[in-house]
Amino acid sequence: MTAQTDLNDVLLDAIQPAHGGREVFDPATGQPIGRAPEHSVVDLQEAIDAARAAQPAWAARGHAERIGLLNKAADAIEAHAEELARILSREQGKPLNGPNARFEVGACVAWLRAAADTPLEPETIVDDGTTHAVLTYRPLGVVGAIGPWNWPMMITIWQLGPALRMGNTVVVKPSEYTPLSVLALVHVLNLALPQGVLAAVSGGREVGEALAGHPGVDKVMFTGSIATGKAIVRSSAETLKRLTLELGGNDAGIVLPDADPAAIAEGLFWGAFINTGQTCAALKRLYVHEDTYDQVCDALTEYAKNVPMGVGLDEQNVLGPLQNRAQYEIVARLVEAAKASGARILLGGNPAGDQAGYFYPTTLVADIDNDNPLVAEEQFGPALPIIKYSTVEEAVQMANGLEVGLGASVWSSDREKAREIASLIEAGTVWINEHGAIDPRVPFGGAKQSGYGLEFGAEGLKHLGQPQIIKG
Ligand code: NAD
Repeated sequence: MTAQTDLNDVLLDAIQPAHGGREVFDPATGQPIGRAPEHSVVDLQEAIDAARAAQPAWAARGHAERIGLLNKAADAIEAHAEELARILSREQGKPLNGPNARFEVGACVAWLRAAADTPLEPETIVDDGTTHAVLTYRPLGVVGAIGPWNWPMMITIWQLGPALRMGNTVVVKPSEYTPLSVLALVHVLNLALPQGVLAAVSGGREVGEALAGHPGVDKVMFTGSIATGKAIVRSSAETLKRLTLELGGNDAGIVLPDADPAAIAEGLFWGAFINTGQTCAALKRLYVHEDTYDQVCDALTEYAKNVPMGVGLDEQNVLGPLQNRAQYEIVARLVEAAKASGARILLGGNPAGDQAGYFYPTTLVADIDNDNPLVAEEQFGPALPIIKYSTVEEAVQMANGLEVGLGASVWSSDREKAREIASLIEAGTVWINEHGAIDPRVPFGGAKQSGYGLEFGAEGLKHLGQPQIIKG
């Protein structure tokens, strides 16, 4: 056993129940990695009561003191970064290297510091000698944070960082697929934060449902599927809870005819395959003009075929398994549907049935119709359909043809032209010559059924406060 494994186990021991709990398995190897506590709705009630009790004192500390404590919490993540990355890699499956586990822990630090340090001054709305009106943001109270399994640590920080900064206390409900990662993160944050301010309740969907309907919770930050987002809207209706919903997407990328295929191949690849495609704002449908279609397909295949996939703790890998069997089956079903329709497999599409983990090979699919299920549904895995178009109008129409609109991208050597096309796309963010390049300073949120509300930057802080006008 290495020194690193020892450190890892110390943190795992701190979060595992003394007895019982549910065994959690590594999706790359099928090996057990630890036990997650199975909290109940009664545990949730206790956590909400404690969070309510702690909230007034946390709010009374004021911004400056909270900023200091949140930066100390970010220091604590940095001090435990490698242990956290290893737990994340073993539980989620993502490799340590590449834009994966170590990167995700680094992003937790960056987003927490940004939530702490972003200025939010009172805004004078009118001051004309007769009328004086100022807009400020009061704490909401207790915030419930419900998260998914794909970027479990980073998304938890997105939810709790701005909530704590704004004077709220927080109860986190991690995905039942990745509880250990989030419990370990919350444990480390609590080394620096005052008692009662942040708690995690690790349970199944019934705990999430109870949190979303609880009268002691003032706002729910939710990231996950569209179906669950709609269920949360229903659960929260009775108490008119504030909601931020970051839901699923099926992001389109449009390659304009003037783009250089060789120059964009790497960016296209990582835009689609980051976290092995299990990313909300990943490129999931690629539209390429007929003049450069073959060159783009060739350049992408050439890049993709050399990217190593395997067990996360192996330092050479940068792509991992699907996190769970259900997701593996979705990807396999959609690729089979594409094959059955006569689409052309450029790479992959042939999973080895004898592996212990949920590995699905990097898959590129050409000559596929826009209404094929691999295009129309969110695959959330390493399989990218590449659709040919003839006119830019047609490409924009296909990009806008779904009920979701999280992100999108336009690829061109003419940035002005690309910006013009970007403005026609119905999505919360449109990137130029990159995809999914989120930034803690820049607001992020979905259009259409990809959700509502904004995260990050000053706008993100405002979504965790109750606006108050003081007039007079
Ligand atoms: P999911 O909706 O199945 O689960 C998310 C969380 O909701 C889990 O913690 C789960 O226990 C909880 N939950 C389930 N039913 C609930 C209910 N009725 N009430 C309250 N909570 C409930 O999502 P998932 O499969 O974990 O995540 C994948 C999805 O998330 C994909 O669609 C992806 O695109 C989306 N996603 C979106 C973003 C974004 O920022 N927009 C980021 C990451 C993932």
